[in-house]
Amino acid sequence: MLPAKKYDVIIIGSGLGGLLCANILALKGLKVCVLEKNKQFGGNLQTFARDKQIFDTGVHYIGGLEKGQTLYQIFKYVGLMERLKLEKMEECFDKILIGEDANIYCQAQGYESFIKHLTKSFPEEEDNIISYCDKVKEICASFPLYNLMLNADASYKGNNESAEATIASITNNKKLQAILAGNNLLYAGEADTTPFHVHALITNSYIESSWKCVGGGSQIAKILVANIRKHGGEIFRNREVIAISERDGMITDVTIADGEILRSKYFISNMHPPQLLRLLLLH
Ligand SMILES: Cc1cc2nc3c(=O)[nH]c(=O)nc-3n(C[C@H](O)[C@H](O)[C@H](O)COP(=O)(O)OP(=O)(O)OC[C@H]3O[C@@H](n4cnc5c(N)ncnc54)[C@H](O)[C@@H]3O)c2cc1C
Repeated sequence: MLPAKKYDVIIIGSGLGGLLCANILALKGLKVCVLEKNKQFGGNLQTFARDKQIFDTGVHYIGGLEKGQTLYQIFKYVGLMERLKLEKMEECFDKILIGEDANIYCQAQGYESFIKHLTKSFPEEEDNIISYCDKVKEICASFPLYNLMLNADASYKGNNESAEATIASITNNKKLQAILAGNNLLYAGEADTTPFHVHALITNSYIESSWKCVGGGSQIAKILVANIRKHGGEIFRNREVIAISERDGMITDVTIADGEILRSKYFISNMHPPQLLRLLLLH
């Protein structure tokens, strides 16, 4: 017979998603356990140093952290806002350079500034730049969870049209198209397959407000890990989940690399989906 369930929820992976989930559930009184395979917590929140200079691996700058904005409310709920060392970025949160063109094109915080800066570079495109901003705002308004609302009726009913096609339908100017999509590294954008809503949700958060973590993004992980423990949760590093077991259609336990088996009522995967599928297909 398997030992009694020790946890309400086991979360596999300590990236930002896993740590936020664990914090919210621990705050609600559930007994959570986070299992991280690496020696550092945080996934893409990890930092490293070269010649005393700190480098972020993933999270270099963050959008939507102005009071009242979406990420601000989530970070405040889990006790991050009081403790994070943040610095607002300069007005142009991204400066786009293109080929031999000596100009620097600015993506600015605040829709008014965003329109003003790009219109200065492309005066004849002002109406199209405004249309682009309206489209981004319209798409973002159609995602209830993005706006912290649980209104299923209002959920996104878009057509998954690609970012490339949507931007091209707003302006014929190839250079402006490239500048509007210029920070697509943020979401590993692919010209013809990335949907416009992915582009819009991410770009909108930076236009709303853009911030840097002073001293690196790993402070987010440190605070969230401490809070999990403060609220009675457990979190372990160097604990790779190598198998997930199922009985009668329900996940029952996970196996750690050292052979230990952990049971729980619920399981949340914070792994990259293909990694999770590989584990599930082991059966
Ligand atoms: C190069 C780069 C730059 C980025 N720049 C920014 C930016 O400037 N601003 C921004 O907001 N976002 C940025 N992002 C995106 C951001 O970093 C991610 O969206 C976010 O950190 C992802 O968090 P996550 O929890 O989904 O996943 P991850 O951070 O990937 O966490 C997954 C965790 O699961 C663990 N794991 C995997 N398999 C197992 C297993 N079998 N057992 C136990 N643990 C396991 C991993 O070790 C990892 O710690 C960037 C991403 C990259 C890659």
